[in-house]
Amino acid sequence: MSVSAELELLAKVPGKLLIGGEWVDGETGGTIRVHDPSNGRVIKEIADATPADGIRALDAAVAAQSSWAATPPRVRGELLRKAFDLLIERREEFALLMTLEMGKPLAEARGEVNYGAEFLRWFSEEAVRVTGRYGLNPEGTGRIVVSQHPVGPTYLVTPWNFPLAMATRKIAPAIAAGCTSVIKPATLTPLTTLAFAALLEEVGVPAGVVNVVTSSSASRLSAPIVADPRLRKLSFTGSTEVGVQLMQQAAQNVLRVSMELGGNAPFVVFEDADLDKAVEGAMLAKFRNIGQACTAANRFIVHESVAAAFTAKVQERIAAFKVGRGTEEGVNIGPLVDANQVNATNELVQDALAKGAKAVLGGAPIAGDGTFYAPTLLTEVTPDARLLREEIFGPVLAVTTFSTEDEAVALANGTEYGLVSYVFTEDLARGHRMIDRLETGMMGLNTGLVSNAAAPFGGVKQSGVGREGSFEGIEEYLYTKYSLIPV
Ligand code: NAD
Repeated sequence: MSVSAELELLAKVPGKLLIGGEWVDGETGGTIRVHDPSNGRVIKEIADATPADGIRALDAAVAAQSSWAATPPRVRGELLRKAFDLLIERREEFALLMTLEMGKPLAEARGEVNYGAEFLRWFSEEAVRVTGRYGLNPEGTGRIVVSQHPVGPTYLVTPWNFPLAMATRKIAPAIAAGCTSVIKPATLTPLTTLAFAALLEEVGVPAGVVNVVTSSSASRLSAPIVADPRLRKLSFTGSTEVGVQLMQQAAQNVLRVSMELGGNAPFVVFEDADLDKAVEGAMLAKFRNIGQACTAANRFIVHESVAAAFTAKVQERIAAFKVGRGTEEGVNIGPLVDANQVNATNELVQDALAKGAKAVLGGAPIAGDGTFYAPTLLTEVTPDARLLREEIFGPVLAVTTFSTEDEAVALANGTEYGLVSYVFTEDLARGHRMIDRLETGMMGLNTGLVSNAAAPFGGVKQSGVGREGSFEGIEEYLYTKYSLIPV
């Protein structure tokens, strides 16, 4: 990829706020610098919204709500379908933009464009399938009519790790359901959302239906929006810590919330697993997105009889990784998103090493201008290591062992999180038992990747409330109304 192609692409991204169909500067004219994590360079300066700008964006969403709700579902669906087609047509541009602002390898960024676009296609189809019920009450004195309605203006807050897909997973069902929104992308990776909002404008999504605010202070910007009684829904993807704060704020107005929060996924390899399949799954579940995924396998819980063989195989694969800027051919591991992420990853690794773990590979940051961390394999991780309880969010694979199925279940469930679990076994009955016994919102049985626009994504315990994608995804943006008609 040439430098001029990168500059040309970055120049096309609107660096302003989108409020009521106008691209505007923030009221103070302040800016935020967006960096390329592979070399630390500033790639773009964009507008920094103040709390008053945030409220202006909400004003625009409120103003557009009733006409948008009255827009025929077919029209809303067809706008989403056009957006899907255009996004796929521009796959290379969106992929490069994500690689530049977030660091993931281009091949993975292309995969994210495909995944993110699928929410547009799925919800273009769901827009026309919102139905209700009609029935006689048991007394025979009245008709019960149940109908579904858009919940109203929404506030959508997204993280930096999947800049496109986390946005489309919320915006698409909101549009399909007839809700307007204000979206706030992560401060580290706002460019993809800005470019996507411009694409929505281009396909004809009316002014005010989707508004975008970018800010250097997420909490200052968000608090008045969440407190505003005109807001009807908050959908957040990010850390459990911030999710809890937002739920507390949302409780003041009994705001409807969807929360897609942190994970601590167990990756259980039974003695009867197909080890090659398990290794393939491990590479995906652990190293996709440089380990910075809520669905990333955090704890490898491997039966003691196959632990040595599993570890040897993953060691071979990790040793062959190419680390570098995501735009370079053949790179598997890009930089972490910033220096904070490098420090947080390294702290967890050093803690595990100090408590007795062995670093078979890696175990330290890579010196240089970019924020790279060496792909790491840790064995003999002791039960008191922090990385068994906390999200690692880096390219670190840590192995512990077990001897019985009950022990594996106890280890897998021994966390306050419950987003996704991976289980490898060739015994179908055991696979079904694991579906029953693991406390998890999602499960990959002999696979390391579960995300799909047609499937309900979400967690239990402190991994969140609500589901995104599938039939459940649009329900998060609808409310149910019951009407009684005496006969
Ligand atoms: P984060 O919680 O720091 O930030 C998420 C978003 O919230 C960003 O837009 C940020 O600017 C904003 N924010 C931060 N503090 C805020 C505050 N006080 N008030 C309002 N908004 C605030 O998370 P992150 O570091 O961007 O993302 C990583 C986290 O997201 C990980 O914990 C990961 O597991 C989680 N995640 C979850 C899912 C899921 O679907 N469950 C998907 C991706 C990421």
